[in-house]
Amino acid sequence: MNADIIVVGGGVVGTALAYGFARQGLSVLVLDGEDGDMRAARANFGLVWVQGKGAKAPAYHDLTRQSANLWPTFLQELEGCVETRIDYARPGGLFYCLSDHEYEARDALNKRMHNQAEYADTRMVDRRELERMMPAVTFGSEVVGASYCLADGHANPLQLLAALQQAITALGSKLLFRSTVGSIRPEKTGFTVHATSGSFRAPKVVVAAGLATPLLTEPLGFTIPLRSERGQLLVTERLAPILPYPASGLRQTADGTVMIGATKEEATDRGVTVASATKLALRATRIIPALSAARLVRQWSGFRVMPPDGSPIYAQSERYPGLFAAACHSGVTLAAAHAAIVAPAMIAGRLSRDLAAFSNGRFDVQKCA
Ligand SMILES: Cc1cc2nc3c(=O)[nH]c(=O)nc-3n(C[C@H](O)[C@H](O)[C@H](O)COP(=O)(O)OP(=O)(O)OC[C@H]3O[C@@H](n4cnc5c(N)ncnc54)[C@H](O)[C@@H]3O)c2cc1C
Repeated sequence: MNADIIVVGGGVVGTALAYGFARQGLSVLVLDGEDGDMRAARANFGLVWVQGKGAKAPAYHDLTRQSANLWPTFLQELEGCVETRIDYARPGGLFYCLSDHEYEARDALNKRMHNQAEYADTRMVDRRELERMMPAVTFGSEVVGASYCLADGHANPLQLLAALQQAITALGSKLLFRSTVGSIRPEKTGFTVHATSGSFRAPKVVVAAGLATPLLTEPLGFTIPLRSERGQLLVTERLAPILPYPASGLRQTADGTVMIGATKEEATDRGVTVASATKLALRATRIIPALSAARLVRQWSGFRVMPPDGSPIYAQSERYPGLFAAACHSGVTLAAAHAAIVAPAMIAGRLSRDLAAFSNGRFDVQKCA
């Protein structure tokens, strides 16, 4: 055996799980893909976000909330292993409302979610309160208010990925880049994983290869349904600090750049379009007109890893126990839960008990009926 566990995919999901395994004392081998692979982990917006998440899926909302609460400890432990520092702040987050209709709809969503569980940390703030909270901003005339959730925050996702990758090595495990896995073969004991860099054996394998996950699990009769959703983002030059709170679609990084995002598109190419840039910029400047003078320095796109119902999938193959899959949107938000909750549950064989709501079996209509 080359390791106690092989993780296929070195994005933010695979590395957070691998870090969680390594922290439990397991020897982990992470096999990651090619330099040119599309990585959601390198394209995302960087929110560690709770409000509105899992509006129709209480288990997903709870896991999101647990993860957001675990983030400060997760960060402290991670930064204790590596040189890389991760910009992270949790001042609470905003969802701007540009009409009475948007304000009322958001208020109704918050009330619905409060009815599901007793969370007293999300409330509506009117324009006057927003202006008090953000004195450096002159809001556009359409801004009615926002919903404000104390549990929200944001982080630098590139620093997070780099830190997770370094931590795996620092904890004595291994990460091989340019090691695309072509197939996984179940053996009498464990699995052989065939990659471009060689073949490797381990008693357990976790496939966390983002949108490529089904390509590896499907041939083994292990169905992980996913769809991709393109998101485009814009980023401005560095500006003086004006936005003390991250918002859905608008946040200022610790460096001063302002990120504007993200579209939700049915598209399969990596392109960026003028239409999307226009749409994003228009809404951002309706919120803060002064942003129209900021210079844009980059526009990019990425593909969200979307299970059909939006909730994560953490599953073990029934036919080949020891073969797992993990796929989700919101891998930055959930990174702390992946390391501290999902990885230990996989090792301890508690996945189907502790995280049953996230099994792939929920998509099996015949079984569910
Ligand atoms: C536009 C956009 C905005 C987002 N904003 C946020 C946000 O604000 N907050 C948040 O929490 N989440 C956000 N996300 C989601 C987050 O980025 C994803 O949930 C996360 O990146 C998924 O991580 P992953 O590791 O599953 O996939 P990826 O990051 O795509 O990584 C997959 C990895 O698998 C590797 N791989 C693929 N095939 C193979 C193979 N055969 N063998 C070996 N390796 C393989 C690839 O090389 C890659 O490294 C956003 C995503 C997008 C696209």
